[in-house]
Amino acid sequence: MKKCAICNGKTEHKVVDIPTELEDKFLIIKGVPADVCTQCGEIYYTIDVARELEKIEDKVSEKSIKLVRAKNAYEVPLPC
Ligand SMILES: [Zn+2]
Repeated sequence: MKKCAICNGKTEHKVVDIPTELEDKFLIIKGVPADVCTQCGEIYYTIDVARELEKIEDKVSEKSIKLVRAKNAYEVPLPC
């Protein structure tokens, strides 16, 4: 079990949806595995996941990823 670098609280492994803003689009990246602090809510990714998130952002910029239009945002599933 890792500890939170900010508040020293416990982190919990969870699958979360990450909202992010890219260019003029509001995206929600779905199904992202992360450690979330149970006290302050800070989210920690593994290096692999962080890389995957960067790839998604590149793909969105290149328009080589299919965006699913949801209510207020585009939903992007994490491809792994
Ligand atoms: Zn914390």
